[in-house]
Amino acid sequence: MVDVIISGGGPTGMMLASELRLHGVDVLVLEKDAESTAAVRSLGLHPRSIEIMDQRGLLERFLEQGTQYPGGVGHFAGIEKPAPEDLDTAHRYILGIPQPATDRLLAEHAAELGAQIRRGAEVVGVEQDDDGVDVELADGTRLRSRWLVGADGGRSLVRRLLGIGFPGDAATTEWILGEMAVTAPPEEIAAVSEKVRRTHKGFGIGPAGNGLHRAVVPAATVAEDRTVPPTLEEFRTQLRAYAGTDFGVHSPRSLTRFTDATRLAERYRVGRVFLAGDAAHVHPPLGGQGLNLGIQDAFNLGWKLAAEVTGWAPDGLLDSYFTERHPVAEDVLTITRAQSELISPEPGPRAVRRLLAKLMDFEDVNRFLAEKTTSIGIRYDFGEGPALLGRRLRDIPLSQGRLYELTREGRGLLLDATGSLSVSGWTDRIDHVVDAGADLDAPAVLLRPDGHVAWIGGDQEDLLRHLPAWFGAPS
Ligand SMILES: Cc1cc2nc3c(=O)[nH]c(=O)nc-3n(C[C@H](O)[C@H](O)[C@H](O)COP(=O)(O)OP(=O)(O)OC[C@H]3O[C@@H](n4cnc5c(N)ncnc54)[C@H](O)[C@@H]3O)c2cc1C
Repeated sequence: MVDVIISGGGPTGMMLASELRLHGVDVLVLEKDAESTAAVRSLGLHPRSIEIMDQRGLLERFLEQGTQYPGGVGHFAGIEKPAPEDLDTAHRYILGIPQPATDRLLAEHAAELGAQIRRGAEVVGVEQDDDGVDVELADGTRLRSRWLVGADGGRSLVRRLLGIGFPGDAATTEWILGEMAVTAPPEEIAAVSEKVRRTHKGFGIGPAGNGLHRAVVPAATVAEDRTVPPTLEEFRTQLRAYAGTDFGVHSPRSLTRFTDATRLAERYRVGRVFLAGDAAHVHPPLGGQGLNLGIQDAFNLGWKLAAEVTGWAPDGLLDSYFTERHPVAEDVLTITRAQSELISPEPGPRAVRRLLAKLMDFEDVNRFLAEKTTSIGIRYDFGEGPALLGRRLRDIPLSQGRLYELTREGRGLLLDATGSLSVSGWTDRIDHVVDAGADLDAPAVLLRPDGHVAWIGGDQEDLLRHLPAWFGAPS
């Protein structure tokens, strides 16, 4: 019996597989598609996801494949207002990287760490009992695992089989998106695009960086079956309707649809089965949050599920995945929904947009929005305490190097400026780093494997009272 089966080999599933493998958990990823998709959905990583890549030693690979856009941080609904210079992160930029590259890097990493990845394996049935989960594949194969995670995207079969409610707003608008060759000259495309975007912010066409153009345009209606990709002819018709020309588009590399449907799963867990990523939440892509949110779900769930499998998880640890991540998704749904409204050409939203642009001149407003869109401001509710409690700690220099360089193994970490504390009893789960010169506003901080601050203080007795809540009983 495998420890954990993950249904879905997208960015969420692969990130989760890597996190579980760091702790030696047996992982099998089942992905229905035989080949990875060429369709570019996400265009980049936000600072918190960039930090996560750094925390796990993957950042160099991502930087090699991407482009850093410092000015990209702080945009809201296309209102250009760079975030405060002193934003609380060592990575104050958006990393432009097309989703197929992100997907590939995460899949390679999971495989390097020893995750089994089976492509062309579609999950069609799930049944659980007290001891495990039976998973049935389309070819009739039956597999059994102790745990199952549905990271199988917005139309998640796992979510539907579990009967988890997915309340929210149905799609009212659909867009079609594609990468294709054009015959129109670049100057003409840029000029027409700029003109149309003045009134239709949901329209866009520009170079995709690979000799092709990426175009997005509202569809005529919301398709009944969105698994059927749009045709090139549909694309030409819509381009002509919005821009008066189809730019001579031909030879598409990918054509897809997406909508403004906004939904959030009522539960993220039923017994031995969890949901993560798009399987748990869908929303319009404006603001570029979905992939980032999925990676961060996986980063939250990975060490907790590993602790359960390994046997040291304290009571309630697994359920904290829902109590921590559901409100974060709720927040993301709110800000993406708001941004979608703000790009409407209607007079009302345009007036709100002008007002918001003025409000963003106030540094506190700008910082608030930037911390939301970059996810660096997330603070889980760990009870009363200093402002840092529950937030993730940014990367800081240490005498031994950098903090994030010391978190590659996915373990807990006690960063101790006093040298008088001890985690003996938990050394199999927590590293103890003593650095008198660490730039901390506290004598010591205890970091969970996901980098969030679980305890702040300098008193050994107090530390011993808090350790079991996150790291279980001493060994
Ligand atoms: C136009 C567009 C632009 C976007 N731009 C951004 C952006 O800029 N930034 C951002 O962060 N996000 C963006 N997103 C969102 C992002 O693409 C998704 O949020 C992200 O891909 C979710 O990752 P996931 O792994 O949860 O799900 P998915 O990427 O959907 O992966 C799910 C996987 O599960 C597989 N699967 C499904 N059913 C089964 C089954 N029964 N058995 C086995 N496998 C199965 C699928 O084949 C798929 O590979 C955008 C989305 C769109 C549509």
